[in-house]
Amino acid sequence: MHVFWHQRDLRIPDNRGLARAAGDDRLLPVYVVDPEVLDTVGRRQRAFFFQGVRELKAAYQERGSDLLVRTGSATDVLADVVREHDADRVYYNEHYRPERRERQRQVDEALSTRSVVDLVLVDPAELAGRYENHSRFFDDWQAVTKPAPATTPSDEALVGFEDDETPPELESDIDLPTAGYAAARKRYDAFLADGIETYADTRDDMQAAVESPVGAVSRLSPYLAAGMLGIREVWAEASERHVAVEDDARRNVQKFRYELSWREQNYHLLYYNQDLLSANYKSFPNAIPWKSDHDHIAAWKVGETGYPLVDAGMRQLNGEGYIHNRPRQNVASFLTKHLLTDWRVGADYFAEQLVDHDPANNYANWQWTASTGTDSVDVRIFDPVAQMAKYDAGADYVTAYVPELRGVDPDRIVEWPNLSDEERERLAPEYSHPIVDRNAAYERAQRVFETALGKR
Ligand SMILES: Cc1cc2nc3c(=O)[nH]c(=O)nc-3n(C[C@H](O)[C@H](O)[C@H](O)COP(=O)(O)OP(=O)(O)OC[C@H]3O[C@@H](n4cnc5c(N)ncnc54)[C@H](O)[C@@H]3O)c2cc1C
Repeated sequence: MHVFWHQRDLRIPDNRGLARAAGDDRLLPVYVVDPEVLDTVGRRQRAFFFQGVRELKAAYQERGSDLLVRTGSATDVLADVVREHDADRVYYNEHYRPERRERQRQVDEALSTRSVVDLVLVDPAELAGRYENHSRFFDDWQAVTKPAPATTPSDEALVGFEDDETPPELESDIDLPTAGYAAARKRYDAFLADGIETYADTRDDMQAAVESPVGAVSRLSPYLAAGMLGIREVWAEASERHVAVEDDARRNVQKFRYELSWREQNYHLLYYNQDLLSANYKSFPNAIPWKSDHDHIAAWKVGETGYPLVDAGMRQLNGEGYIHNRPRQNVASFLTKHLLTDWRVGADYFAEQLVDHDPANNYANWQWTASTGTDSVDVRIFDPVAQMAKYDAGADYVTAYVPELRGVDPDRIVEWPNLSDEERERLAPEYSHPIVDRNAAYERAQRVFETALGKR
């Protein structure tokens, strides 16, 4: 008999490690509530994970088996389980976050184990260790044949047993999405039915994002981050659709497949750079003189910077544990460029607040936006006024999250940071004035980064 150790892969279908464990023997699935590892997960996401564990347990029970839930260090718990059940081997899917990697290493040392690549479509070890930019990565990644979804173990492959333990009930300060594979599948089905064939055209349309939260984009991120849906399953169905449709629809589906390659690249980065979460990826000849203005950081966190797109994004984050990608880029750029705040401050705050927090995607994207990561542009600065004019000119997104601005002419909202104090007072006295001057902050960021790069 084998033990299968579930970590951030809270599903039965398309689970490569589970399929491998079931391949040559019966298997006993285990989830370890490992406080030391779970302490690195924000409370909202931990609550979502634990709901996912309960869903997973119910799915095993429907198949005449169960999920053994135990609390403690995974090394000790798994050693006990192996001894109690006289198991031959522990299988698990490899995870690349440093704390999990360390735990996996300890388990490998203590027990007979087999780890499997499941988290990504292409094993990072199959690709070169370093790519200059995403297009280079994409070329190599694209050329690798992607595996089909893993087979689901038969009911007979699962050990029949009953277990009373469940993970703790954790309260969350926000409404969480429904957890588990069935909910993830429902969301993907909705996107396949209405969304994927228009994805490229609507993904940045903020009006569409407000009117149709699933459709303009997939909203799969909480499920992918918790492993409630397998990446090969997502890829296979998007690829089938890509073949089945033509012209515009095909272009749109291709864009969705392409976006998944960013996730792959971010995991590739984390795999080869274990300090991606804490150190600049790029080296600078001169240190970046980050500022730590506590009032600015506090205003950013609560969404009171006086930059409407930034504030709407932060309020969506605080209220929903999710931000649409366009404002996600803008809030990160504003913090690191306009406020010159160290990207680690923002990335850590995201990690606390996001239900879809994914260590590779979060930290690699923060580094990309802060120009300390893999971007091919030396100094990228998002101008939140121009970005709003382009993507939310009708202020649909902004007014959905910033009620103080409802009823104000959208043109004035776009121009908010450029208006006079008197005009702002007249239009929306409750809403903030800009905490930094738009042009001065932009120019300062340009200067500071060029100096750090040794270009001035
Ligand atoms: C500063 C910053 C922090 C981010 N933090 C996270 C995070 O913690 N977790 C996370 O999953 N994504 C993160 N992203 C990437 C992106 O914003 C989200 O994946 C996306 O908004 C999730 O919504 P969706 O599932 O509807 O995406 P869709 O547009 O429907 O895309 C489908 C899937 O593709 C992947 N994907 C799409 N865009 C990206 C991208 N730019 N980088 C990596 N993967 C991508 C995600 O897995 C996503 O779920 C971050 C982006 C930025 C700029």
